[in-house]
Amino acid sequence: MATKKKTIVKLVCTTCKSANYFGHKSPKAETKIELSKHCKHCRKHTAHKESKK
Ligand SMILES: [Zn+2]
Repeated sequence: MATKKKTIVKLVCTTCKSANYFGHKSPKAETKIELSKHCKHCRKHTAHKESKK
């Protein structure tokens, strides 16, 4: 029986530290997610990094 667990991570703007997005991550994945997303606070595209709760 395989249990599928998805880890939900916050994607935090590296500029203003706001958690604007949520992403799914495999628990086995060691690398941190980093995406360029639009931040409504900064009003521009910024780098969003994965942040644990
Ligand atoms: Zn921001």
